[in-house]
This record gives sequence, C-alpha cells and structure tokens, in this order.
Amino acid sequence: MPMLDPATREALEARLRFYRELGLTDFYRRPIDRTNISIVSEDPTISQEMGASSIPSEWVEDQESQSTIDQETTPIPPRKPIQPPPISAVPSEDRVSALRIIREDIGDCTRCTLHKGRNKVVFADGDPYARLMFVGEGPGADEDAQGLPFVGRAGQLLNNMIAAMGLKREEVYIANIVKCRPPQNRTPEPDEANTCSPFLFRQIDVVRPEVIVALGATAATYLLGQRQPLAGLRGRVHSFRGTKLIVTYHPAFLLRDPRQKKEAWADLQIAMCELGLKPPSRPAS
Ligand code: SF4
Repeated sequence: MPMLDPATREALEARLRFYRELGLTDFYRRPIDRTNISIVSEDPTISQEMGASSIPSEWVEDQESQSTIDQETTPIPPRKPIQPPPISAVPSEDRVSALRIIREDIGDCTRCTLHKGRNKVVFADGDPYARLMFVGEGPGADEDAQGLPFVGRAGQLLNNMIAAMGLKREEVYIANIVKCRPPQNRTPEPDEANTCSPFLFRQIDVVRPEVIVALGATAATYLLGQRQPLAGLRGRVHSFRGTKLIVTYHPAFLLRDPRQKKEAWADLQIAMCELGLKPPSRPAS
C-alpha cells in the first residue's frame, strides 16, 4: 500500500473516527469511480438541490454538522438471509397482553452477546394500536439508561419528524432490530440481529401497523432481508409480511448530515400518502 501524505492520512483518520462513532467498524475497499467525482465537483446545482429549504422547520434546528460523508449510501456487508417466523394472528383486543407475553419471553435475555454490556432491555415505546411503526437499529446510551427507544438527540429529531407528519409520538409504535445496546454503539453483528429480530417480528405481527418506516440501513436490511445500499431501497413502497414498508435515513445520520433531511422528508411523505395523512398547517407568520 502506498504511503499517504500527512494531510490525506489525517483526513482518512477523521473519516474513520466518524464512521466508528456511527457504529461502523467493518470496511472494505472498492475501486473509485472517477466519473462520479468529476460530476460532483463540476455541477454547482448539486449542492443547491441538496439544501433543506423545503423540509419542515422543526427539523432544521440542528445544523452543527455539515459532513459530506454518506454512511447510508455505502454498500452494506453480506448478511445471513432472514427467515421470519410464521405470522400469528392476534385479535385486536389482545394486543396489550400479547406484547406483554413477548416481553416476558425476552425476560432477562442472554440469547446473544449484547446482554453483557446492557443496562436495560429496550423493548419498544408507543401505541399497540398504531397505524405507523418506526424501526431503528438498536439502543444507544440514553436508550440503554432509560429502557426506551429513541430518547436521545436522535430521538428528539424523530419526535420532530413524527410531529411534522401531523402525529404525536404516543400515536406511533417505535422499536429496534436489537433490544440491547451494542458496545460503542457499533452496528449489530448478523448473529445478534438474527437472534433478536424474531422478537421484533412478533411485535409487528401483534401491532399490525399499516405502514412501517425502516430507519437506516440496518433496519432495512433485517426487515427486507436484502443486501442493498439505502439509496436503492428508498423512494418506493416495499412489503414486509403484508405491511407496507418505507425506507429512510436514521435520525442519527440526519444529525450528522442535515442536508439529507430533505430526502428523508420525501420518504415520510410517501408514508403519509399511504396513511392518508396531511401535514399540519403552520401558523401564519
Ligand atoms: Fe436478547 Fe436481543 Fe438483548 Fe440479544 S439483543 S441479549 S437477543 S434481547
């Protein structure tokens, strides 16, 4: 491997630190497409199109990072194909007790190695009768401490996204692929996700939302069982066990790259269209 000059090496180290913060620890090399590099650098309209002018104002408060790194468009490594268990019909009136049974089945779980570092099992939050369900990757530090999904900064942004859809957090159902915090917030390993995700599938079967929004590449991968970059999954309606599924960016990624909020809002508008929702009218200024 050729020696890197100090500036390039420093930039590379910064990028790797950034990926590690996001929980990405496995990397591989692929050839650089120089055609794409020249297009980006020569087309001044691209940066304008990526602006956040048309997204709801509630999302735009956090602009501390302007990173150009797109974790979500990086191809994801191969994973074990998912074999979801059969769908079990649960009567509407039994949803609360059915979810309680799933929680009791999880118990003080030691089925995968993630139990070693967790503080609390993060089961879910929200309405068992929700029409809309969000699925993320796994708990972070705040979630591990409180035992609830999406309660940190990413959770605040998710709350704003839900509000922009004209809903309250209490009206949706929120869960993750894994229920215990991975060390250093890394991406769950395939054996961890494949061990834990059947509990999520059971939750989905009980809640039976009309629409699921997969937040980020990990959620999309394990729900759809597809190994694809996020860019190839966004912008259309998939089907998961009979439920419409839409893929968008994880709020933690949007905090890192707020310019992608415009794209995420477009994804949520697909979900709103499927649910027959209209965004709340804004007060006159
Ligand atoms: Fe059990 Fe899931 Fe936690 Fe692993 S992540 S220990 S399978 S609850």
